Amino acid sequence: MKVAHEITAQAPSAQALDVGKIRADFPILRQKVHGKPLVYLDNGATSQKPQMVIDSLNRYYSEGNSNIHRGVHFLSERATEAYETARQKIRRFINAGSDQELIFVRGTTEAINLVAQSYGRTFLKKGDEIIVSAMEHHSNIVPWQILCEQIGARLRVIPINHDGEIVLEEYRRLLTDKTKFVSVTHVSNALGTIAPVKEVVRFAHERCVPVLLDGAQAIPHLKVDVQELGCDFYAFSGHKLFGPTGVGILYGRAGLLDAMPPYQGGGDMISLVTFEKTHYNVLPYKFEAGTPHIAGGIGLGAAIDYLVGLDWERVAAHEHDLLAYATSALSRIDGLRIIGTAREKVGVISFVFDHIHAHDVGTILDQEGVAVRAGHHCAMPVMQRFGVPATTRASFALYNTRDEIDVLVSGIHRALKVFK
Ligand code: PMP
Repeated sequence: MKVAHEITAQAPSAQALDVGKIRADFPILRQKVHGKPLVYLDNGATSQKPQMVIDSLNRYYSEGNSNIHRGVHFLSERATEAYETARQKIRRFINAGSDQELIFVRGTTEAINLVAQSYGRTFLKKGDEIIVSAMEHHSNIVPWQILCEQIGARLRVIPINHDGEIVLEEYRRLLTDKTKFVSVTHVSNALGTIAPVKEVVRFAHERCVPVLLDGAQAIPHLKVDVQELGCDFYAFSGHKLFGPTGVGILYGRAGLLDAMPPYQGGGDMISLVTFEKTHYNVLPYKFEAGTPHIAGGIGLGAAIDYLVGLDWERVAAHEHDLLAYATSALSRIDGLRIIGTAREKVGVISFVFDHIHAHDVGTILDQEGVAVRAGHHCAMPVMQRFGVPATTRASFALYNTRDEIDVLVSGIHRALKVFK
């Protein structure tokens, strides 16, 4: 077996992130799986939670549980304040213009469905075109296909090149008078590619076409500033950002959200209801029907507290080092092909062998305590583009280490022996 240490990736320095300290914040990482220390490399699917987030959920349910926005009693007022404080933290974290522009949703999937149904059904019509890219997650394809079926619009797809990068000239060609919406991922979950989203937004805005960015995979790795990106909508999930499952955010420009009808009807999203007519609540509540995931919102706020307490330059350098180290080490394995070799990438490595199925590699790695994802990653068109049924995907987070990548590499060598 070739040793991975010979690579030229940046060596750890005094300026390096204190990963040991960070790992101590994530209790799940201390456990063993099949008798081996857990090596969690499935962060693209969901990230682990720091103690601060777990404590905030515990505290909420043991001391603060109450419904929000409606009660006049102490607990309800305190829960409302905690939930709204979380919204403010999220606003600062992504630099949105106001709290009104942040809608709590279930996750990225619900955020995109909300825009497709509310904006799409109101402002798009038969013959209009919606542009997505060839590297979208199913949740940024299917909601638009549903809309297209409902109104007779057409989905257009920006191709990606062999490295898994968006072909901007093709995008410019697809943008026409018929284009009425663009929805593109910021970072591909299957390939790790960082899309040129500023250009995507700029070219669309030259034609006054609104743009949604799917930030599910970008938000844990990149500094996201929605005003700097210039996008009209930005969607992400709490659980990929070290927060709880079942909660996420749709950012939308206030002007657009104001013009859009509610997505769901129910409690909290109204200001007055009679059988003759209902008046909707102001933003963001117009889009928040029913009792939300209160603990989730507060937990997401705690995750953001955790993240803003870190030195992001060091985090970025560490993640860059992990990607470089892993790319170099995996590239040396005979027969291993990396799918997704874009110049701009986050810490995601998808790979295949011609003679071993991705699931078999994943199963052997699991026996070694290594958690990776194997399959189509809810991005079947990406698999079709590269002519593979599935890939094995290792996706890194700030708490991963070079040692863990060495365990991944030796696990892959074990799989090669088993299936030779
Ligand atoms: N978009 C991308 C790029 C994703 O990676 C994911 C989750 N894998 C989603 C959307 C959907 O996120 P969720 O399941 O949290 O709604």
